[in-house]
Amino acid sequence: MSDWLAVARAAKGFMPDAEGEALHAAGLRLGSERPRGTWLEIGAWCGKSAVYLGAAAAVSGSVLFSLDHHHGSEENQAGWEHFDAELVDPVDGRLNTLPWWQRTIARAGLESTVVGLVGESSVVAAHFAPPLDLLFIDGGHGADVAWADYEGWAPKVTRGGRLLIHDVFPDPRDGGRPPYEIYRAALEDGFDELSAAGSLRVLRRR
Ligand code: SAH
Ligand code: MG
Repeated sequence: MSDWLAVARAAKGFMPDAEGEALHAAGLRLGSERPRGTWLEIGAWCGKSAVYLGAAAAVSGSVLFSLDHHHGSEENQAGWEHFDAELVDPVDGRLNTLPWWQRTIARAGLESTVVGLVGESSVVAAHFAPPLDLLFIDGGHGADVAWADYEGWAPKVTRGGRLLIHDVFPDPRDGGRPPYEIYRAALEDGFDELSAAGSLRVLRRR
């Protein structure tokens, strides 16, 4: 077996080790309740969270779709806080995390479990029919994008299925509002909180 945990930890990304392990544990628990499920994450970047979740999906014969346009969020662009020049495609000068994502998934031995979806989240959501057993929202953090992710994807989560949200910061001094706001909305919309780790929240649809 390949050492997926070492691959996850080494991948570029925005998932602290403890939160990644909590993500993995949430996936294992759901997978034991309902094997062979359909899972999806919004916000693939270089594949870090996809390995934590994908390694859990593999255990239960589930499949994880890992969605991203692969050109980064606003804060990843040149001149912003989370810019990484190594990710710029020299051909067109744009950020392109897709080759990094592919290498991460291959190194982790998860190519039969984690399937990439390359595109704009709202476009894919409008054409993606299967119900989701697990949805992980970790895409753009602007209000428009975060709400579009919530409104476009959360309705696809089945009863008893999980909604995981990253970068939930109750205190505005710790981070931006939109992920916290969609988390609050989910609690009003029929999701119950199961657990929290750092800024990760794990919810279950009633
Ligand atoms: N889960 C990743 C981090 C994701 S960062 C990890 O574990 O490291 C957020 C990602 O969301 C970026 O890669 C960005 O390209 C993507 N993103 C932002 N807005 C998007 C949109 N509207 N559609 C698709 N992807 C989007
Ligand atoms: Mg995040």
